[in-house]
This record gives sequence, C-alpha cells and structure tokens, in this order.
Amino acid sequence: MAATSHTSIKSRDGVSSLVGRWPLLGQRRPLVVYLCGIVALDVVAMVLLATVTDVRWPHLLTFAALMACGAVCIEATRRLGMPAGVARDLLSAWWLPVALLLPPVYALFAPIVLQALLQWRVRATVLYRRVFSSAAIGLAGCAASVLFHRVVPDPSALTRGGGSAITLAVGAAVVFALLNTGLIAIAAHTADPEGPWRDVLWDRESVLLDVVELCLGVIVAIACGLNLALLVLTLPPVVLLQRSLLHAQLQAAARTDSKTGLLNAAAWQREADTEIVRARRSGDTLALLIIDIDHFKRVNDNHGHLVGDQVLVSIATTLRGQLREYDVVGRFGGEEFVVLLPGADIHEARQVAERLRRRIGRMTIAADDVMISVTISAGVAVMSLHGDDLIELLAAADLALYRAKELGRDRICVPVVQAPPPPVADASPA
Ligand code: GH3
Ligand code: MG
Ligand code: MG
Repeated sequence: MAATSHTSIKSRDGVSSLVGRWPLLGQRRPLVVYLCGIVALDVVAMVLLATVTDVRWPHLLTFAALMACGAVCIEATRRLGMPAGVARDLLSAWWLPVALLLPPVYALFAPIVLQALLQWRVRATVLYRRVFSSAAIGLAGCAASVLFHRVVPDPSALTRGGGSAITLAVGAAVVFALLNTGLIAIAAHTADPEGPWRDVLWDRESVLLDVVELCLGVIVAIACGLNLALLVLTLPPVVLLQRSLLHAQLQAAARTDSKTGLLNAAAWQREADTEIVRARRSGDTLALLIIDIDHFKRVNDNHGHLVGDQVLVSIATTLRGQLREYDVVGRFGGEEFVVLLPGADIHEARQVAERLRRRIGRMTIAADDVMISVTISAGVAVMSLHGDDLIELLAAADLALYRAKELGRDRICVPVVQAPPPPVADASPA
C-alpha cells in the first residue's frame, strides 16, 4: 500500500511538473481540443494560401510598413505596462488594412508578428494564449479578407473614394470583429461553461472599442492605399488613442480585485464614502452589509486553494448578479465581502441580506470534479440607526456579523441597539 501511495505521489508530481511546463495540459479537455483545433486550422490555412499566393514586392513593402507601425505603437505604449487578464488594444488599426489591401495570406501572418512582439517586449504571458490569439485574429482577418477581395477584386477602389468599396470595407471589418469576438468567446465559454454567454460576448465598452477599431482600420487602409507614406500621419493619433485606452484599463485594474472582479477594499471604501456623503446631504437612507463565508477554511483544507478560489469567484458573481446596478459591492479581504445599499432601510437591507443568504446556501458550485455548497453569515448596519459614517457603520456591521457566527452561522444579524437610558428623575429641590 505504501508503494502504491508513493507511486501515486510520484506520478502526481510528474503530472504537476508537466502541467507547470505546459499549462495548456492543465486546462479542461474540451478547451484543449478547441484551442488546438483553431491553431491547426490557422496553420492549414497558412500553408494552403501560401502555396497559391504570388509574392510581390509592393505587397511585402505594404505588409512591412503596417507591421512597423504596429511595432511603433507597441513600443510607444510599452512603458505604461499592461493590465493583467484580458486587455484590449487598438492593433486592429494595423491588421485590418493588411486584410483589406493585401492577399488573404498576409492577414494570417500579421498577428503572429505583433503578438510575438507583445510577448517579447510587453508581457510574457502563457504561450498557448498568445498562439491562440494569433490564430483567432489571423483566421478572422483572413475570412474578412477573402470576402472583401471576392466582391472588390481591386482594393485600390478603396482609395478612389467610391461609396460601395468603403461600405464593403466596413462590412469586412464588421465580419472581422464578429468572428474574432466569437472565436474568443467560445474559448472563454469552454473554459468556464457556468459563465453566462452575455458576459463573454456583449459589453458596451468592448462594442464601443470594436467600433473605434473598425473606423481606425478603414481610415488607415484608405490612407495606406493612397500612399504608403501617409502611414506617418496616421501613426500619432493611433498611438495616442492606444495610450489613453491602456491608461483607462490600468486605472480600472487598480480599482478591481483581480480574483473576483469586484471592487477591491480601497476602491470600495472610496465609493462607499462618496455614497455616504451623498446620503447624508440628501437625507436618504443607506445600509451596509458585511458578508463572510462560513467555515471557508474547510473548503481550502478539503479541496485545495484553487477550488477555494473558484468558490470565491462564484459567490462574487452571485452577489453582483443579485444586486442592483448602483449597489456598491466589494471584496473586503479573504472570504469577506462588503455591500453598500443606497436608499435601503433596515427592512429592505435585511430582506436583501436574507435573499443573498438563501441564494448562496442553495448554490452548488462545480469545482474540478466536486460539487461544493457553502453558507454565509452577514452583519447589517443602517445609516443613522447604527452609525453616521463609514467607520461606525463598518464597526456595527462587523459586531453583528460576529454575533451571527456565535449564534451558529448561516444567518443575518443586525446590531443590538442599546436602549436609551431611562430619564433621570428631577431631584432638584422645589
Ligand atoms: P468562519 O465561519 O468563522 O468565518 O470560518 P472560516 O474558516 O471561514 O474563517 P477563517 O478566518 O478561520 O478562515 C478564512 C479562510 O479563508 C482562511 C484562508 O486561507 C481563506 N482565504 C482567504 N483568502 C483566500 C483566497 O483568496 N483564496 C482562498 N482559496 N482562500 C482564502
Ligand atoms: Mg473571515
Ligand atoms: Mg469565514
């Protein structure tokens, strides 16, 4: 028996070191199949199209000029850094013109050049993600290019200002954006089948960015088609836009808890302070909840920290999904969350907290191969009734939470309000 367990430890160590070297192997099997399928499709398309494409110097020159602009853009924003996770950039401004002006095979190669540069100069992320991104952008660009060249065989029509060629270029850019988003959304959904499609497909901010990229891509394509030297004029505005986009993303990342996507403690306190000042000025009610997962240490002890992290993410997603847009939700630290409910009085705050407690208590969270259920306890505090500023409200809610734990957990408590002292009998002599 000892030998068996020793062997299993050894083989698990082998597997984990293999996964350490090849993180793709640690992903869910459907995701691995999908990612490999897309990359294989990209490689096949490259080989097939390369064999039927005539290499021409003007094409190579245009390709090199657009890639050089992309490289300048990357270098000019490199020092700002890049937020962790999925970050957006405006590099489509360079690979869309490749798709519109050059034979489709160039659209397959363009993302490889710029993604390699990103990996080398900006941030060395997990390699399979870079390879997949290149393949997804390449295939989307290639499909847009094939469609565009089929209806507009001579791309110089773009530079003659003809309405139909420009409309078709916009159409091809839309196809590019839809395909690229679709391919990446399928990967995100395969990685996390529980997550709603809407989250990976639709987000007002990213649609706005797609529109900006589309406009830039078509304008750069027209300028580049007119005269390659005009790229010098398109470069500064694109670099400036890219810098402000990165700046905005870095600012958002600094406010967010990277694990759960909720506000981090500092950002939550700033927003909560603002809401409290507003409520005090307007005389509105306001309530605060501190929510703590019960016996969370056991989840970690029994299933490991990674599973514990998945539970945290599921609970954060449920909290955000169950609350109103203007409720301020944050991760206070560890397995504690804080919620500010503008406009809520004690009854509404208790109702909301009860709803959250019941909802989370009924959830079964699929993590790895196990189903996990947890409960929460919460302390509620209401403005004016339990405190007048954030510190007092937090202290009152924390005491109430402590009582909820003492009383057995899986419950909501409000602070015990001290009864006012009885009026002192007037002892003054008549
Ligand atoms: P109680 O019901 O009294 O709140 O018990 P508890 O086990 O939830 O509380 P305790 O404070 O004993 O343990 C909190 C645990 O939360 C311990 C810590 O390892 C875990 N934790 C804190 N932050 C994280 C995190 O980011 N990820 C994971 N997986 N665990 C975390
Ligand atoms: Mg705790
Ligand atoms: Mg806890």
